[in-house]
Parts: sequence; structure tokens; C-alpha cells
Amino acid sequence: MAEKTIAVLGGGIGGLVATRQLRTLLGRKHKIILVDKSSYHHFPASYIWALLDWRKPDEIRKPLSSLKRYNIRFHNGLVHTLHLNQNVIQTNKEIIWYDYLVIALGAEPAYHQVPGLSMATPTFYTLEGAIHLQSKIKGLVNGKIAIIISGLPYKCPPAPYEAALLLDYYYKNLGRKNIQIEIYSPEETPLSTAGKGMGEALLEILKRRGISFFPNHTISDIQGGRNEIRFENGNIITPDIYTVVPPYQPPPIIRESGITAPNGWVAVDPVTLRTKYPNVFSVGDITTIPLANGLLLPKAGVFAAREADVVANNIAFEIASCGSPKSFDGHGYCFLEAGNGTAGYIKGNFFDRPAPTVSLHKPRMLYHWRKLLYEKYWFFRWF
Ligand SMILES: Cc1cc2nc3c(=O)[nH]c(=O)nc-3n(C[C@H](O)[C@H](O)[C@H](O)COP(=O)(O)OP(=O)(O)OC[C@H]3O[C@@H](n4cnc5c(N)ncnc54)[C@H](O)[C@@H]3O)c2cc1C
Repeated sequence: MAEKTIAVLGGGIGGLVATRQLRTLLGRKHKIILVDKSSYHHFPASYIWALLDWRKPDEIRKPLSSLKRYNIRFHNGLVHTLHLNQNVIQTNKEIIWYDYLVIALGAEPAYHQVPGLSMATPTFYTLEGAIHLQSKIKGLVNGKIAIIISGLPYKCPPAPYEAALLLDYYYKNLGRKNIQIEIYSPEETPLSTAGKGMGEALLEILKRRGISFFPNHTISDIQGGRNEIRFENGNIITPDIYTVVPPYQPPPIIRESGITAPNGWVAVDPVTLRTKYPNVFSVGDITTIPLANGLLLPKAGVFAAREADVVANNIAFEIASCGSPKSFDGHGYCFLEAGNGTAGYIKGNFFDRPAPTVSLHKPRMLYHWRKLLYEKYWFFRWF
């Protein structure tokens, strides 16, 4: 059997799982190249812990170069052109030919969509941002914190609510009872993809904790120097601390690739994650997967990882008849840290008809322990 080259673009959640699963299934045969502009793999589900200084950066990121031990070549470069009809991709350092390609480049923050929003705007949606916010969070004795969802789509829809619940716990635990936490969102209810019932269940949890939710608040501009945030409905707020969840856009390099849907994200077969090129697959946040209720599959690591597993199995089966073909089924789950050693658990089938069926299990210690274990498992399993 001729040796094949499989290139995986992006060493985030989807790219890491695809790469490692391919190597496991293919043994030492065939070339696997992982390309990322960053030298680290990050585990973003732990950024909220970093925000509270409960995690140091090196506890929640690992160098991608360490995948060498699995006979995976890591190329630390910026992908800038995809020549999909010639089986070639180009980085700032080299040209890579492939037989199979997995595109897992994630979603990019679209700062330009909101006047005043920039890389310098406070956010816990990046590791650097979470660390930067730590001293402000620690220093607040009384006042108001606003968590602002600045546009749709954004990554991990429950994460802003999780941050609010954890901040609430953090301050109450310190005895700082005069801190008000507010969430502003363009949505009418939280987590709209998962249905109204899901949003109402989450609102109930927020209400019991005294966290305010302001629906239908689309941000119009941020005056960072004055901590002033204006909304299209005329509301203006000046919180003591704010943190913005940026809107996301597809990485610009896929614009000319010919594999995008009209909304700009990569169009894939929802079950196989294959693009219109038979040897090109795409997984995770960069893809667009329409659901039966007319909305789109949320951008979440759990989907990126499960999709990547499907793609790795199907490529390995095509190349070497090893493993068995798999299908992505739209099932997903995530934890909702709620503080005091508890977490909620969101679980559902997003491919269900006529709409996703998703449920929220109330916060319990068990789910918090499962989230802790999952983080440990993640690095143990893949590195
Ligand atoms: C605060 C926060 C909390 C979250 N919590 C959860 C959670 O609890 N559960 C959950 O399921 N999901 C969670 N998510 C969402 C999850 O992190 C993402 O959905 C997931 O990382 C998507 O995986 P991906 O492989 O598609 O993209 P990513 O993990 O974003 O990886 C993309 C990779 O591509 C690289 N890249 C991009 N462009 C280029 C280029 N041109 N050249 C080279 N490399 C490039 C990037 O450096 C990156 O490493 C959270 C996200 C955040 C921000």
C-alpha cells in the first residue's frame, strides 16, 4: 500500500483528536502532519478557572511539539492558502502536499463587528484575556460586573452563564455581598438553539443566585476608557468591570476555498463531515451544520472532538481498512460550573426532529467532579 500523507490544519480540540486518533488507527504507517500557528494546544473549557486564578496557563495548555512521540510531525506555521483542487496547502514557511486534509481551524473573533471592540477589550474568552482580568476581579469589593455577549454566533453558549455563576460564588465566598453580576445578550432567552425550556431552566438558576439577565441587548459600541457600553435599544451601562464575549467569524483564508456555505462557514455533510472535495474533511467551529429547527449546531468543543473521531475513523478505513466507518449523530453534553463544588450538566441530541432535545440537570457535586476529571483525562488521553 502506497504511503499517504494526511494533513490536519489546526491543533485545537478537533485537530488534536483527529491527529491522535488517526495515528492510533494507522499504527506507525502513513505520514501525519499537524499544522498550527500557535505552538500550544489550549483547553478553553478551563479558562473560567484561569479567570479566578484557579489554573495556571501551563496547566491548561500543552506544547504541540510533544506529539512527536506519536510520530506526528508538528509544523508551527500560519496556513495562508488552500489549493484544494491541487491537494496543496501553503503556510508562511512551506508548501504541504496531502492525500487527505482535515480542516479544523476554528472560528476567529470578529472584533471589527462592534465599534470599540478590539483584542485589548477585557474578555475571558482567551487565556491571555482571562489572566489579564484576574487582578480586576480580585480587587473588586463592591460594584457591578457585566458579562456582555456581543454577537452571534459565539463559542460555547453556556460559558458566559457559567462565568456568572462562578463569579457569584467567588465573591459570596469572600463575603463580598455587594457585588451585582449582570449578563447582557442579543438573544431573547439563553441558549436559544437548545429551545425555550432550556433557557428558562437556566434563567431559574440565575434568578435564584441573584444574577440579572438582560435579553434583546445588542451592543452598539464600547467606550473602553470610560467603561461605557451602549446598546442598540438605547440602554447605556457603566459597570465597574466588564468582560465581552466577542462575535465570531470564519477564518478569512477559507473565503476563497470554494467549500463554504452562503454564511461563510465550511459546508460539510453533517454525518461524515466531508466537504465537496472527497478527500477534504472539516470539523469543529469552522463548520456550519443546519439543524431541524432552522438554527445551527452550536460551536462547542464536544462536537469538534466527536466529529474529529468520526473523520479519523473514516479516513483510516478508506486508507487501510482499519477500524470501522463512523457517523456523527449530533449528540453532545457539557458541564455548567455553578460554584460551591457543584456543576450543572447539559445533555442532548441536536439532530433530533423537529428540534434538538436538550436537558439541563441541576447543579450537583457529581458533575463538578466529572468536569475536573474530564480536564485531567483530556491531557492524559491526548498528550
Ligand atoms: C471560555 C470558553 C469556554 C469553553 N467551554 C467549553 C466547554 O465547556 N465545552 C465545550 O464543548 N466547548 C467549550 N468551549 C468551546 C470550544 O473551546 C471550541 O468549540 C473548540 O475549541 C472548537 O474546536 P476547534 O478544533 O474547531 O477549534 P479550536 O480549538 O479553536 O482550534 C483551532 C486551531 O486552529 C489554529 N489556527 C487558526 N487559524 C490558523 C491558521 N491560519 N494557520 C494555522 N493555525 C491556525 C488555532 O491556533 C487553533 O489552535 C469553550 C470556549 C471558550 C472560549
